[in-house]
Amino acid sequence: MIRDQSTLDALLDSVSRFVRERLVPAEEAVAESDVIPPQIIEEMKHLGLFGLTIPEAYGGLELTMEEEARVMMELGKTSPAFRSVIGTTVGIGSQGILIDGTTEQKERYLPKLATGELVASFALTEPDAGSDAASLRTSAIRDGDHYVVNGTKRYITNAPQADIFTLMARTDPAIKGAAGVSAFVVDAKSPGIALGKIDKKMGQRGAHTCDVIFENCRVPAANLIGLKEGKGFKTAMKVLEKGRIHIAAVCVGAAQRILDDTLRYAMDRRQFGQAIAQFQLVQAMLADSKTEVYAAQCMVLDAARRRDSGQNVSTEASCTKLFASEMVGRVADRGVQVFGGAGYLSEYGIERFYRDVRLFRLYEGTSQIQQLVIARNMIKAAG
Ligand SMILES: Cc1cc2nc3c(=O)[nH]c(=O)nc-3n(C[C@H](O)[C@H](O)[C@H](O)COP(=O)(O)OP(=O)(O)OC[C@H]3O[C@@H](n4cnc5c(N)ncnc54)[C@H](O)[C@@H]3O)c2cc1C
Repeated sequence: MIRDQSTLDALLDSVSRFVRERLVPAEEAVAESDVIPPQIIEEMKHLGLFGLTIPEAYGGLELTMEEEARVMMELGKTSPAFRSVIGTTVGIGSQGILIDGTTEQKERYLPKLATGELVASFALTEPDAGSDAASLRTSAIRDGDHYVVNGTKRYITNAPQADIFTLMARTDPAIKGAAGVSAFVVDAKSPGIALGKIDKKMGQRGAHTCDVIFENCRVPAANLIGLKEGKGFKTAMKVLEKGRIHIAAVCVGAAQRILDDTLRYAMDRRQFGQAIAQFQLVQAMLADSKTEVYAAQCMVLDAARRRDSGQNVSTEASCTKLFASEMVGRVADRGVQVFGGAGYLSEYGIERFYRDVRLFRLYEGTSQIQQLVIARNMIKAAG
C-alpha cells in the first residue's frame, strides 16, 4: 500500500541519490577498512533511515510494508553492509517493542530508535540454537524486580555498536520449547555483559557480528517486552516474518545493481571484434538474470501488499525470501561469469557482491527453514 505517491517518490529519490553519490563511491574503502565512516551514518540519520518503520507519533516515517520494500530495493543497490547499519534497528530492535511492547516501553525507546540515537541489536541465535531457535538456553530468572540473565548469543549483528539488545531468553526452564521464551530490552552497558571478538566473515565488511555473553546480568522486570512472560518467541517470529520481505527487497536491489554493472561491462568489453553483449550465450545470462530479478520484484511487492491489507503472509514471506535470496546468488554468479577473469579480481567489485549476497541465504532463516515453513503451511491448510 502506498499512502501518498509523491511523498514516497521524494523519499525514493533522496535514497537513490544518497546511494549513487555517497554510498557507491565509498564501497571499496569500506571493504578495505571494514569501517563505515561516521559521517555516512550521520547522513543516514538525517535521511530518516533509522525510523523507516517506526510510527510518526514516535518520530519515525511509519512506512507501509510496500513503501519499506521499495526503499530497500533502492538501498539494496550498494554494498549490503550499508543496509546493515539500520537493519537491526529498523527490524526487531524497534518492531518487537512496537508490536508487543507496552505504551511506556514504546515511549521510552521508539523515539530514540527512530532518530538513530539508539542502535538496537537482535539477540536470538546461540552456539547450540540456530535454525532450532526455540531450543535456546540463555536463561532469565526472576529475582525480585529484576531478571538475572546468563548465556551466550552468537553472530549478533551490530552488537559492537549496539546501545540496546532485544534479547530472547528462557524465563521458564521447565518449559523446553518456544513457550518458555520471553523477550527483553537490555541496555548494552549493563554490568554482566561482555562482547566476544569481532567475527571474521566471508563478506559484508563494515557490518560486524560478535558473541554477546551474559553473566549474572540484572535486567529490570520493567524491560520484559509487553510485561508478559512466555511471549518472546512469538514476538521474534512476528518480526522475522516481516523481516523476510525486507531482506527479499534488499536482494532485489542488490541483484539489480549486479545486473546493471554486468550489462555495462558486457556492452564495453570486446572480444572477436565485437562487444561480448552481442554473443547470444552472454545474452542468455543477461536475460535469465533480468527475468529472475523481475520475478523476485513482483513477489516482494505482492507479499508486501498482502501484508499491508492485513493478510497472513507467513507462506508468501518465506516464498519471497527463499526465491529472492537464492536468485541474487545466481545473478551474482552469472555476473562473475560475464566479467570473465576480471570478475575474479577485487578491483571490479563483482566478486565482492558475490561474497556479500551469500549471507542472505543463511540468516533470518536459512533457505531450508523457509522451505520447511512453506511446506508446513501447505500441509496445514490442506488438512
Ligand atoms: C553474518 C551473520 C549475521 C547474523 N546476525 C544475527 C543477528 O543479528 N541475530 C541473531 O539472532 N542471529 C544472527 N545470525 C544467525 C543466523 O540467523 C543463523 O546463523 C541462522 O539462523 C542459521 O543457524 P546456524 O548458523 O546455527 O545453522 P544451523 O541451524 O546449524 O544449520 C546448518 C545447516 O543445517 C540446515 N538445517 C538446520 N535445521 C534443519 C532442518 N530442520 N531441516 C533441514 N535443514 C536444516 C540449515 O538450513 C543449514 O543449512 C547471523 C548469522 C550470520 C552469519
